Amino acid sequence: MSKIGSVGFVSEALQKNKFKIKKKYGQNFLTDAGILESIVAASEVTAKDAVIEIGPGLGALTELLCKTAGFVLAYEIDHELLPILHHNLSGFQNYKIIEEDILKANLLEDIHQYLTDYETIYVVANLPYYITTPILTGLLSKNLPIKRYVMMMQLEVANRICGKPDTKEYNALSVWIEYRADAKKILKVPRNVFIPEPNVDSAVVRLDVYDQPPLAVKDEGILFEVIRVCFWQRRKTLFNNLSMAYPKEFILNMLQALTLSPTIRAEALSLKDFIQISDYITQNLNK
Ligand code: SAM
Repeated sequence: MSKIGSVGFVSEALQKNKFKIKKKYGQNFLTDAGILESIVAASEVTAKDAVIEIGPGLGALTELLCKTAGFVLAYEIDHELLPILHHNLSGFQNYKIIEEDILKANLLEDIHQYLTDYETIYVVANLPYYITTPILTGLLSKNLPIKRYVMMMQLEVANRICGKPDTKEYNALSVWIEYRADAKKILKVPRNVFIPEPNVDSAVVRLDVYDQPPLAVKDEGILFEVIRVCFWQRRKTLFNNLSMAYPKEFILNMLQALTLSPTIRAEALSLKDFIQISDYITQNLNK
């Protein structure tokens, strides 16, 4: 059998099992051992730690994770991959595959059931791209005991996640992530290292989750609402977007009090600005 993570490994596994790739599940199998190694190295996972993998596929990344981590808990939606996975991982005992949609899984319950013996928990994955954002926002908003996420995703989403003010990539997701984690794009990945080739380029992103948010906020719910409203229509000014959700006069007074120009756009604001707006609304609206 060809070396795991190679073109030969993926082609053989597909042919031998007469497996038909399912586009609807975002199945693009990685065929570059060097990239697999870079992903695992970036996670800095050790034998004392556990890893949660989303979409193990044929098991190329899973095998490397089983060699490096104490335990691997993997969620795979496609039940036809299960026999292939168990065959490819037959040399290991330190893994559990849960046949479930990651968006429906109860991760906290599974963490308590399988991962209590491990020092730190990481998420390492080559994500199914059709649900990158729901996976990311779903997991991060649950405040799970996960220290770091290292994930392959489409380059466009990676650029948004790591987006900085005054760039075209900066959007509501960039600010939402900035409040929760230190995000770094660590590797750009061309499309020709996957079978089949996706029609977008990819990147590996590392998110180091903060124990505490970098800046205090009075009401997180209001902050997330403010971020969403401010980026509602990108071309509109802050005043126009905010006045779709809050009384116009209140917004004018607020912008004056915070010395923000009514013609400024959300893309020019920092996380600190969004927090100031949110705290002002929390303290002054309906008073
Ligand atoms: N890890 C493999 C690799 O690197 O070659 C496969 C990655 S492939 C991009 C994405 C994997 O996620 C596929 O195995 C697919 O079946 C699985 N998947 C798709 N949607 C899923 C979901 N909602 N929950 C869990 N797994 C899912």
